Amino acid sequence: MAQSSRTGIMLIGAPGSGKGTQAKKLKESLGYAHVSTGDLLRAAVKQGTELGKQAKSFMDAGGLVPDELVIGLLEEALTKPETHKGFILDGFPRTAVQAEALDAKVSLDKVIYMKVPFELIEERITGRRMSKSGHVYHVKYNPPETEGVCDVTGEELYQRSDDTPEKVQERLDKFVAETQPVVPRYQAKGIVVEVDGVGTPDEVFTRISAVL
Ligand code: AMP
Repeated sequence: MAQSSRTGIMLIGAPGSGKGTQAKKLKESLGYAHVSTGDLLRAAVKQGTELGKQAKSFMDAGGLVPDELVIGLLEEALTKPETHKGFILDGFPRTAVQAEALDAKVSLDKVIYMKVPFELIEERITGRRMSKSGHVYHVKYNPPETEGVCDVTGEELYQRSDDTPEKVQERLDKFVAETQPVVPRYQAKGIVVEVDGVGTPDEVFTRISAVL
Protein backbone atom coordinates (compact mmCIF):
# COMPACT_ATOMS: atom_id res chain seq x y z
CA MET A 1 0.00 0.00 0.00
CA ALA A 2 2.93 2.36 0.58
CA GLN A 3 3.53 4.69 -2.32
CA SER A 4 7.01 6.01 -2.04
CA SER A 5 6.37 9.00 -4.30
CA ARG A 6 3.76 10.52 -2.06
CA THR A 7 4.73 13.01 0.58
CA GLY A 8 3.89 12.29 4.20
CA ILE A 9 3.78 15.03 6.80
CA MET A 10 2.89 14.44 10.44
CA LEU A 11 1.71 17.11 12.83
CA ILE A 12 2.32 16.10 16.41
CA GLY A 13 1.62 18.10 19.54
CA ALA A 14 -0.59 18.38 22.59
CA PRO A 15 -4.34 18.70 22.19
CA GLY A 16 -5.06 22.35 21.41
CA SER A 17 -1.62 22.97 19.92
CA GLY A 18 -3.21 23.85 16.57
CA LYS A 19 -2.66 20.64 14.61
CA GLY A 20 -6.11 20.65 13.01
CA THR A 21 -5.98 24.32 12.06
CA GLN A 22 -2.54 24.01 10.49
CA ALA A 23 -3.39 20.73 8.76
CA LYS A 24 -6.31 22.46 7.03
CA LYS A 25 -4.05 25.29 5.90
CA LEU A 26 -1.45 22.83 4.60
CA LYS A 27 -4.14 20.94 2.76
CA GLU A 28 -5.20 24.16 1.03
CA SER A 29 -1.69 25.19 0.11
CA LEU A 30 -0.21 21.81 -0.87
CA GLY A 31 -3.26 19.88 -2.05
CA TYR A 32 -2.49 16.92 0.22
CA ALA A 33 -5.17 14.98 2.06
CA HIS A 34 -5.84 15.90 5.69
CA VAL A 35 -6.06 12.67 7.68
CA SER A 36 -7.35 13.37 11.18
CA THR A 37 -8.19 10.32 13.26
CA GLY A 38 -10.16 12.59 15.63
CA ASP A 39 -12.35 13.79 12.72
CA LEU A 40 -12.75 10.21 11.43
CA LEU A 41 -13.73 8.99 14.89
CA ARG A 42 -16.20 11.84 15.43
CA ALA A 43 -17.77 11.04 12.05
CA ALA A 44 -18.06 7.36 13.05
CA VAL A 45 -19.69 8.32 16.35
CA LYS A 46 -22.13 10.62 14.56
CA GLN A 47 -23.02 7.94 12.02
CA GLY A 48 -23.49 5.42 14.83
CA THR A 49 -21.23 2.80 13.22
CA GLU A 50 -19.97 -0.15 15.26
CA LEU A 51 -16.56 1.50 15.50
CA GLY A 52 -18.19 4.77 16.57
CA LYS A 53 -20.09 2.99 19.33
CA GLN A 54 -16.91 1.37 20.61
CA ALA A 55 -14.90 4.61 20.44
CA LYS A 56 -17.44 6.96 22.01
CA SER A 57 -16.90 6.16 25.70
CA PHE A 58 -13.11 6.53 25.41
CA MET A 59 -13.47 9.86 23.62
CA ASP A 60 -16.06 11.21 26.05
CA ALA A 61 -13.74 10.39 28.94
CA GLY A 62 -10.83 12.26 27.31
CA GLY A 63 -8.94 8.98 26.94
CA LEU A 64 -7.42 7.29 23.92
CA VAL A 65 -9.39 4.97 21.68
CA PRO A 66 -7.77 1.48 21.62
CA ASP A 67 -4.91 1.14 19.15
CA GLU A 68 -6.45 -1.64 17.05
CA LEU A 69 -9.53 0.46 16.28
CA VAL A 70 -7.60 3.58 15.33
CA ILE A 71 -4.94 1.74 13.33
CA GLY A 72 -7.62 0.11 11.17
CA LEU A 73 -9.24 3.47 10.56
CA LEU A 74 -5.94 5.08 9.62
CA GLU A 75 -4.91 2.27 7.28
CA GLU A 76 -8.21 2.56 5.46
CA ALA A 77 -7.84 6.35 5.18
CA LEU A 78 -4.38 6.00 3.63
CA THR A 79 -5.74 3.86 0.79
CA LYS A 80 -8.00 6.70 -0.40
CA PRO A 81 -7.07 8.22 -3.78
CA GLU A 82 -6.95 11.73 -2.35
CA THR A 83 -3.88 10.71 -0.33
CA HIS A 84 -1.91 9.67 -3.40
CA LYS A 85 -0.18 13.01 -3.88
CA GLY A 86 0.48 13.40 -0.19
CA PHE A 87 -1.10 13.29 3.24
CA ILE A 88 -1.00 15.30 6.43
CA LEU A 89 -1.45 13.23 9.58
CA ASP A 90 -3.18 15.05 12.42
CA GLY A 91 -3.60 13.21 15.72
CA PHE A 92 -1.97 9.95 14.65
CA PRO A 93 0.15 8.28 15.93
CA ARG A 94 -0.63 8.87 19.60
CA THR A 95 1.09 5.76 21.00
CA ALA A 96 4.24 3.73 20.31
CA VAL A 97 2.12 0.87 18.95
CA GLN A 98 0.44 3.23 16.46
CA ALA A 99 3.82 4.64 15.41
CA GLU A 100 5.10 1.14 14.71
CA ALA A 101 2.04 0.28 12.64
CA LEU A 102 2.42 3.52 10.69
CA ASP A 103 6.12 3.07 9.98
CA ALA A 104 5.44 -0.43 8.68
CA LYS A 105 3.07 1.03 6.05
CA VAL A 106 4.40 4.42 4.98
CA SER A 107 7.46 6.58 5.26
CA LEU A 108 7.22 10.15 6.46
CA ASP A 109 9.11 13.10 5.07
CA LYS A 110 8.63 15.54 7.92
CA VAL A 111 7.29 15.59 11.47
CA ILE A 112 6.19 19.02 12.66
CA TYR A 113 6.25 19.11 16.45
CA MET A 114 3.93 21.92 17.55
CA LYS A 115 5.06 23.40 20.84
CA VAL A 116 2.58 25.35 22.97
CA PRO A 117 3.02 25.90 26.73
CA PHE A 118 0.46 23.87 28.65
CA GLU A 119 -0.70 27.06 30.48
CA LEU A 120 -2.14 28.30 27.16
CA ILE A 121 -3.79 25.04 26.21
CA GLU A 122 -6.77 25.12 28.54
CA GLU A 123 -7.94 28.52 27.29
CA ARG A 124 -7.45 27.43 23.69
CA ILE A 125 -9.39 24.21 24.09
CA THR A 126 -12.26 25.38 26.27
CA GLY A 127 -12.91 28.39 23.99
CA ARG A 128 -12.99 26.23 20.86
CA ARG A 129 -16.29 25.98 18.93
CA MET A 130 -16.94 24.00 15.78
CA SER A 131 -19.47 23.68 13.00
CA LYS A 132 -20.65 20.23 11.91
CA SER A 133 -18.79 20.64 8.62
CA GLY A 134 -15.53 21.17 10.47
CA HIS A 135 -14.96 24.93 10.65
CA VAL A 136 -13.24 25.86 13.88
CA TYR A 137 -13.61 29.10 15.85
CA HIS A 138 -12.49 30.42 19.19
CA VAL A 139 -14.78 32.56 21.35
CA LYS A 140 -11.92 35.01 22.04
CA TYR A 141 -9.25 34.61 19.37
CA ASN A 142 -11.31 33.81 16.29
CA PRO A 143 -14.99 34.50 17.00
CA PRO A 144 -17.61 34.11 14.25
CA GLU A 145 -19.29 37.28 12.96
CA THR A 146 -22.58 36.19 14.55
CA GLU A 147 -22.24 34.56 17.94
CA GLY A 148 -22.81 30.81 17.83
CA VAL A 149 -23.15 30.62 14.03
CA CYS A 150 -20.62 29.43 11.42
CA ASP A 151 -19.59 32.27 9.04
CA VAL A 152 -19.16 29.86 6.15
CA THR A 153 -22.14 27.53 6.41
CA GLY A 154 -24.57 29.23 8.79
CA GLU A 155 -24.59 26.08 10.93
CA GLU A 156 -24.97 26.35 14.67
CA LEU A 157 -21.63 26.06 16.46
CA TYR A 158 -21.09 23.45 19.16
CA GLN A 159 -18.45 22.62 21.73
CA ARG A 160 -16.77 19.22 21.48
CA SER A 161 -17.81 17.06 24.42
CA ASP A 162 -14.11 16.53 25.28
CA ASP A 163 -13.27 20.25 25.12
CA THR A 164 -14.40 20.92 28.69
CA PRO A 165 -12.01 21.96 31.50
CA GLU A 166 -12.50 18.58 33.23
CA LYS A 167 -11.33 16.66 30.17
CA VAL A 168 -8.39 18.87 29.23
CA GLN A 169 -6.10 17.67 32.02
CA GLU A 170 -6.86 14.04 31.22
CA ARG A 171 -6.00 14.62 27.57
CA LEU A 172 -2.77 16.46 28.43
CA ASP A 173 -1.76 13.63 30.78
CA LYS A 174 -2.32 11.13 27.96
CA PHE A 175 -0.24 13.28 25.64
CA VAL A 176 2.69 13.34 28.06
CA ALA A 177 2.47 9.64 28.95
CA GLU A 178 1.70 8.12 25.54
CA THR A 179 2.36 10.52 22.67
CA GLN A 180 5.41 12.56 23.62
CA PRO A 181 7.53 9.38 23.90
CA VAL A 182 6.88 8.78 20.18
CA VAL A 183 8.83 11.91 19.17
CA PRO A 184 12.38 10.51 19.72
CA ARG A 185 11.60 7.71 17.28
CA TYR A 186 11.30 10.30 14.51
CA GLN A 187 14.08 12.50 15.87
CA ALA A 188 16.36 9.50 15.36
CA LYS A 189 15.40 9.60 11.67
CA GLY A 190 16.29 13.32 11.52
CA ILE A 191 12.86 14.40 10.29
CA VAL A 192 11.46 16.27 13.31
CA VAL A 193 11.17 20.06 13.25
CA GLU A 194 9.93 21.86 16.33
CA VAL A 195 7.64 24.79 15.58
CA ASP A 196 6.52 27.45 18.05
CA GLY A 197 2.73 27.08 18.07
CA VAL A 198 2.05 30.33 19.94
CA GLY A 199 0.53 33.09 17.83
CA THR A 200 -2.18 33.52 15.26
CA PRO A 201 -2.90 30.66 12.84
CA ASP A 202 -1.26 32.69 10.05
CA GLU A 203 1.87 33.36 12.10
CA VAL A 204 2.24 29.68 12.93
CA PHE A 205 1.56 28.71 9.33
CA THR A 206 4.37 31.01 8.15
CA ARG A 207 6.75 29.20 10.50
CA ILE A 208 5.65 25.78 9.26
CA SER A 209 5.89 26.79 5.60
CA ALA A 210 9.44 28.00 6.22
CA VAL A 211 10.56 24.57 7.39
CA LEU A 212 8.80 22.43 4.78
P1 AMP B 1 -8.51 14.99 18.32
O1 AMP B 1 -9.58 15.57 17.46
O2 AMP B 1 -7.27 14.64 17.57
O3 AMP B 1 -8.21 15.84 19.54
O4 AMP B 1 -9.07 13.61 18.88
C1 AMP B 1 -10.24 13.56 19.69
C2 AMP B 1 -10.28 12.28 20.48
O5 AMP B 1 -10.34 11.17 19.58
C3 AMP B 1 -9.07 12.00 21.34
O6 AMP B 1 -9.13 12.64 22.61
C4 AMP B 1 -9.12 10.48 21.46
O7 AMP B 1 -10.13 10.07 22.36
C5 AMP B 1 -9.57 10.08 20.07
N1 AMP B 1 -8.42 9.88 19.15
C6 AMP B 1 -8.08 10.61 18.05
N2 AMP B 1 -6.99 10.15 17.46
C7 AMP B 1 -6.60 9.08 18.21
C8 AMP B 1 -5.50 8.18 18.14
N3 AMP B 1 -4.58 8.27 17.17
N4 AMP B 1 -5.42 7.21 19.10
C9 AMP B 1 -6.35 7.09 20.07
N5 AMP B 1 -7.38 7.91 20.21
C10 AMP B 1 -7.52 8.91 19.29
